[in-house]
Amino acid sequence: MTISITPSTHLARIYELLIDTYGEPENKPDYDPLGGLVGTILSQHTSDINSGRAYQQLVATLPTWEEVRDAPTHEVAEAIRSGGLANIKAPRIKNTLHTLTEWQQSQGGTKSLSDYLYDELTQRSPEEGWHYLRSIPGVGPKTAACVLMFNMGLAVMPIDTHVHRVSKRLGLIGSKVNADQSHDVFARITPPEWVYPLHVNLIRHGRKICHAQRPECGRCPLYSECLFARGDQGQPI
Ligand code: SF4
Repeated sequence: MTISITPSTHLARIYELLIDTYGEPENKPDYDPLGGLVGTILSQHTSDINSGRAYQQLVATLPTWEEVRDAPTHEVAEAIRSGGLANIKAPRIKNTLHTLTEWQQSQGGTKSLSDYLYDELTQRSPEEGWHYLRSIPGVGPKTAACVLMFNMGLAVMPIDTHVHRVSKRLGLIGSKVNADQSHDVFARITPPEWVYPLHVNLIRHGRKICHAQRPECGRCPLYSECLFARGDQGQPI
């Protein structure tokens, strides 16, 4: 069932200004949520280049997720060394794979872990899928949303530091709304087809102009829509 949400005038103006400034990015999901989940764990606290290298090294060393699950932790850690924090990420990845294995076994299933997770997510609404992924120990709200949006093409907004900061300054969310609560706010106010472009463009804007320290308000295309620039930060409009 497709949900229809009519955006506020404020959000619509922000959305259009971001599109005019940064273009309209297109999502190209690969429908590989387990690969995405492992990749997202590897991407924590490192660059995309390093985590991508670690992922490639992992699948070259241990080509199936079942092999990763069953390999000694030190072998997994060695394979992902280039991604940083290998001794933390290796057990996290293995625990995730063991959790999915236990869940599938409790249902009497025999699919590959990749197929199992894909099928579990396609049986659920995006919101249910988000809660399902979050019930895997060590999987937080942003990781769950990234998998659903980037890998499954679903309208679930990942709230990273840029999205959270810029949205607060613009007044899309209240100043006291934390990242976890922001997820629910965006689910209520954003038309599903806007979620991916809005996410990507808020990050671009946060990196290029609306920096955490010294935002460049003087050259900001969103100035007319910004509560922070008016000295009125805090209340959604
Ligand atoms: S006007 Fe300033 S605070 Fe507001 S979005 Fe632009 S850069 Fe950020």
